[in-house]
Amino acid sequence: MSHVFHRQSNAAYPVAVAGDGPWLIDDQGRRYLDACGGAAVCCLGHSDATVREAIREQAESLAYAHSAFFTTRAAENLANHLIARAEAEIPDNRLDKVYFVSGGSEAAEAALKLARQYFLEIGQPTRHRVIARRQSYHGNTLGALSVGGNQWRREPFEPMLMPATHIAPCYAYRDRAEGESEEAYGRRAADELEAAILDLGSETVAAFIAEPVVGATAGAVPAVPGYLTRIRDICDRHGVLLILDEVMCGMGRTGHLFACAEDGVSPDILLSAKGLGAGYQPIGAMLCSARIHDAIAGGSGFFQHGHTYMGHATACAAALAVQRRLHDDGLLDNVGVQGSALRAALEAAFGQHPHVGDIRGRGLLLGLELVADRATKAPFDAAVRLNARVKREAMARGLMCYPMGGTIDGRRGDHVMLAPPFIIGPEHVSEIVEKLGQALAAALESTPAAARP
Ligand code: PMP
Repeated sequence: MSHVFHRQSNAAYPVAVAGDGPWLIDDQGRRYLDACGGAAVCCLGHSDATVREAIREQAESLAYAHSAFFTTRAAENLANHLIARAEAEIPDNRLDKVYFVSGGSEAAEAALKLARQYFLEIGQPTRHRVIARRQSYHGNTLGALSVGGNQWRREPFEPMLMPATHIAPCYAYRDRAEGESEEAYGRRAADELEAAILDLGSETVAAFIAEPVVGATAGAVPAVPGYLTRIRDICDRHGVLLILDEVMCGMGRTGHLFACAEDGVSPDILLSAKGLGAGYQPIGAMLCSARIHDAIAGGSGFFQHGHTYMGHATACAAALAVQRRLHDDGLLDNVGVQGSALRAALEAAFGQHPHVGDIRGRGLLLGLELVADRATKAPFDAAVRLNARVKREAMARGLMCYPMGGTIDGRRGDHVMLAPPFIIGPEHVSEIVEKLGQALAAALESTPAAARP
């Protein structure tokens, strides 16, 4: 009998005991190809010797020093590295300071409070509202959940959530009108932000938050070209801060260290986690502009927010080792190569599949949307939990893929997300597609016909 409080109480979890590159191994010796990096976390696979050594070295000299008393070389070096990369890679980069936390939700909380405090510091106290998007995810803590737009995750806690305004996501597969160009659709979707700002009164709006590539709610949905540029422009015109959540899509997952670089847009605040530490240590970060930082530094002088483990030395040392591996060993090039190969293989295998409505994503963040009917795009009955069936069948075949139920037209729909480590090769690409095909076939076979509208 386990005393661990597992989220899914009736599930029998295998016991993971070891990692070997892109593989996880359980206590029965079974091997699982980690085609989703856990939750798009493990970008270096599971046993990277350089990162292990960096952790050992840091833990032996200094594991942790509280940030109210000290800074550490590990935190300073990691911040320097991240800002140097942002300067080099993001057009018109605004990011200049890094605030370290322990994960993605903490980064989102810090960003929301920073946005609010910034406007207090500059004498605009009426700005407190946050605009976000439906079908988005920014974390499971109450603030992050409040701005997130995933109905299923929000519902039980709705009375406890702070008010937030939600606009449409940029979701071309479902929302682009027939005959509408991607550019026109992107403009239309972005203009919802301006309408919301005007509706609320721009003097009340502090920030807009969005994922450049939507991950955990919709399975790797990138914005169409031009969407984020227009969003940036709207935020600037109305004095609203742009927060981009790259917790899942950042740190090289899309083939760029910062996903927003591909869109040619710099946010005022950027959230990072997952691939930052690649799972070797829990770490997240909030990057912000000098303008925001200096408003506080030159004002009250104190950001009224903090956590015990912020800037944890061992976590920062691990993350720096991860980041150096990505940069020095050219691993993002492999994201481009294997990402294209995986996408092509998915299209060859599932492009005509009657229950795969869309194949999408960027780099090694790819998603399949499962539908009951390709023509109408109708999802399967949510009660069938097709995504959970796919996960179960994939695990039985030694493949980890990330299944999700997003909300589509008010109903839950099914997605499978793939986010394998950046170290994979062609043999792993083939194995992922082959086993996913088997898992999907088995999952569909076990789905009652009545579940198909
Ligand atoms: N933002 C995004 C875009 C995410 O994908 C996630 C995690 N799936 C979070 C925030 C929350 O991160 P964490 O689970 O580390 O708190």
